[in-house]
Order: sequence, then C-alpha cells, then structure tokens
Amino acid sequence: MKNFEEMNTFLVQNIGSKTRAIAPTITPSAAFGYENAQEAEAIFSGRSQNPLYARMGNPTNAKLENIIAQLEGGSSAIATASGMGAISMVLTAFLECGDTLLCIGGFFGGTYTLVQETMTRFGVKGIFCDVDEIDLIEKNLQNGVKLVMIESVGNPNLKLPDLQKISALCKAYNTLLIVDNTVTPLLIRPLEIGADIVVYSTTKIISGHSAALGGIAVFRSVENEDKLQDDKYTSIHPLLEKAGEKAFFAICKKRALRDFGMSANAFGSFITMLGLETLALRTQRINDNVKKVAALLHDAKTNITVRHPSLPQHEHHDRFKSFFSEGCGPLLTLDCGSKEKAFSLLNNTKLITQTANIGDNRTLALHMRSTIYRDFDEKECAFLGITDGLIRVSVGLEDPMAIAEDFIQASS
Ligand SMILES: *Cc1c(COP(=O)(O)O)cnc(C)c1O
Repeated sequence: MKNFEEMNTFLVQNIGSKTRAIAPTITPSAAFGYENAQEAEAIFSGRSQNPLYARMGNPTNAKLENIIAQLEGGSSAIATASGMGAISMVLTAFLECGDTLLCIGGFFGGTYTLVQETMTRFGVKGIFCDVDEIDLIEKNLQNGVKLVMIESVGNPNLKLPDLQKISALCKAYNTLLIVDNTVTPLLIRPLEIGADIVVYSTTKIISGHSAALGGIAVFRSVENEDKLQDDKYTSIHPLLEKAGEKAFFAICKKRALRDFGMSANAFGSFITMLGLETLALRTQRINDNVKKVAALLHDAKTNITVRHPSLPQHEHHDRFKSFFSEGCGPLLTLDCGSKEKAFSLLNNTKLITQTANIGDNRTLALHMRSTIYRDFDEKECAFLGITDGLIRVSVGLEDPMAIAEDFIQASS
C-alpha cells in the first residue's frame, strides 16, 4: 500500500472509536464465560466467534488482527507474543519431521538459529540460498520443498529480493511462500505479489516506540484451486475441508497456537495499536530520512563504507527503484573496517541509542559481530554479510542532518 494519505485516514479512524472510549479497549481476562452449554459447543466448533480462552484469542488482539489483515489485504491474521512467535507458529503449523524449508536471503539472527538449530532438532531440514541464486532456488523447489521463507529486505545485509520472480517460482512448484515484512510494512504488500503468509515482528516499525514485544502472521484466503491441495500438504487437508477460505488461520491456530501457546496478550496488543495509528506518517518520514542520511554519509568522505539500496553503488539499486519506490525501511549499514573502529564510532556518537532493536522513533545502532552474530562461525557470517567492522543503523524521526553530522563527528 503506497497511498499514505489513505493509510493515515484508515489507521486513525479504525483504531479509534468515535463513541464511548476512543482508545481500544483492553480485555485482560484469561478466561471467558459462556452463556450456556450450547454457546460453549458453538464456540469450540468455531460457529461462534465469541472468545474461548485467551491462549486461543482475545478481543483486544482481535482488533489488532483485523486492522493488520485489512492493511495487508489478507483474509485473517493471528497476533503472537513476539515476531519469533509468529515465525515459529507458521513453521510448526506447516512443517513436520522429514520436511525441507528453503530460506532465501540474509536472515535476522533469531530466524536463522530457529531454522539452523531448533527446527533441525525436530527433523526439519533448512536450506539457505542467496536472493540471486535463482537456479539453485529452482533446483531445490524441484527436489521438494514444503515452505519457502524470505525477508523483504535482508537484515542486516540489505539485499533486495526479486519477490515477483521468487513468488512465480513458488507458484509453479505449488510451494507456500512466507514473507517476513518486518522492515517494510506499507512499503510492499507481499500478499499482492503472491505470498501466502506475511509475518511481522510488530515490536519494530509497527509499534515504533520500543514499548511492546509482539508479532503477527497475516494469511491470504484459500482459493478453489489452491496450492494447499498439493499432495505434499496432505496432513492439513482435513482442516482445509473444514475451514475453507480461512484454512491458513485454522491451521495455525489448531496446529501451533493451541499447543505451543505463543499467544499475544491484550495489554501488548493495546500498546501496539497506539503505535500503529501513526505508522503511515512515520514510514514516510523515516524512509525520507534514511535516504538523506545515506547520501550525506556517503558524500562526507569519511573512512566508513555506507551501504543502502538508494545509493547507486548498491547491487540492487535498480530493484530499489522499481519495487521499493517509497523506500525499503529504516536500515542502513556502516562498515568501519574493524571492530575497534566500529566501537570507537559508536561510543563517540551523542544522538544514537545502542540497542538490538530496529524501527524505533529514535535512531538506533549496534555492532553486529560482537552481539547478535557473536555465536556464528566465519562461514555463516560471510553468507549473512557480517563483517568485523559492521554497524547496523536504524534511522529514526530526528533531523536527518543531525543524524548524519553525529556519525561524521564520531568518525573523525
Ligand atoms: C526482530 C525481528 C524478528 C523477531 O521479532 P521479535 O519481536 O524480536 O521476536 C523477526 N524478523 C525480523 C526481520 C526482525 O527484525
């Protein structure tokens, strides 16, 4: 969705209520009473949408789910306790022992270890490919892959995938495509490009305030002739028959949320909605800022290598212009050449907050190799684009001149 004017109207009008309490209502109850035995039966069978028990859903979460589903053009959504909760919900709902999961691009550290260590313990094989290894991607799809996962923008390698091409391949091989759109809400709409599920860490840009941990998965509707009818998805076919159009939602609830309990809480969803109201406004400002900061730092003739797809030197600059015309999120990276120089730069800044978060209203920065990627070996770091001097910056709402000047003074 690139119409920020329309989005500003949609968000404030739908999150706020015109009568009685304007702010969303927090329903903190863990359990919900049923009118009578018939209602209990109807709720458990899915005929009634009234709340069952907070692990399975809650009215405050439902409001957030409804708004984000509309924002994405999806048919339904499930809010989770964190972004990792959303990703692990989707993976555990669809994958079983013996399956192969294909991960394309550079990945957030938590997603990488989830696939590499944890899913492996449960007998799921994870294969990693670069965004531009299209032949290898197709060869893996031919060999049988159950799910494909990709980040809309590599974090922190800032590679941009050709989502159109990858989605067409997934369609050709009847394989589900999950896009982690944490870095680019509103800037791209993966379901329109052919993704089946979109996941977010709402902790980041959707909230913007670092005040609530949360995640969400958004699903497309199931069609008459659907990928899900392929033989490789046989184990979920009974739910497909029962739930019809909303099968993705039912599959995630019944095969993951119910049993693993990565459920969102009402208070977190409330805080998330307070941030969500201004998402379109912040997205415009931050995406303008990041381009300005990247250009200013690039032109400043420091010894730092600035990396951002808006710079003509970036290998995916053409993709940036054609697919990410409004921007590709708040991240840019600075390569200082060594850990010592990176530490010195970070410690000499005055404006920047050093933290592991991204997408905040404030500008954040972090040295990668000594923190999120400290347990990764050389080969993994090379694949993920993590060098010894790499700093990831998440640009905030401040004056872009002030942000750039702070890094410039800190580097001298
Ligand atoms: C932060 C992040 C996650 C994980 O989200 P949490 O809310 O921290 O669990 C997943 N994917 C991406 C791209 C992220 O930046």
